[in-house]
Amino acid sequence: MMKEKRELVSVPGKWDISFNYAAGKTVSHFLAQIRDNGRILGMKCAKCHRVMVPPRSFCERCFVPAEDWVELGDEGVVEAFTIVHDVFEGSPPPPYAIAYVKLDGADTALANFVDGLDLSDISEATQRLKIGARVKVEFASRREGRITDFKYRIIG
Ligand SMILES: [Zn+2]
Repeated sequence: MMKEKRELVSVPGKWDISFNYAAGKTVSHFLAQIRDNGRILGMKCAKCHRVMVPPRSFCERCFVPAEDWVELGDEGVVEAFTIVHDVFEGSPPPPYAIAYVKLDGADTALANFVDGLDLSDISEATQRLKIGARVKVEFASRREGRITDFKYRIIG
């Protein structure tokens, strides 16, 4: 029997799906502490002592479970940043700034929005928002258990 060559037909479509997903035990505790107590927790690996934030339930370097919560400082240092000028679905209207910040007491960086910059003047903004700049965490007065319950603000 001869093998028939069949055409693969593609069908155009667009999916716009809103959904909730379970944050899991570790990240749920992290987000609940931000919401309820205005504090940011990291997870310390008992083997290598690295403090990870956002917290993880295991250390991907040592392959051991991590269960030692550590409260982090409310200040940190910018490790990387970007200023966004394009529209991304689910994000605020541009422009806005995002920075990866290594909070005091953490060994990894946590991304979030940076507030208090005049983004209409990029050269001015990037004189303040730069690698090594110190930031302070500013919590929203009304929090919902989301990473957006706080923003960073440049302090030096
Ligand atoms: Zn480790």
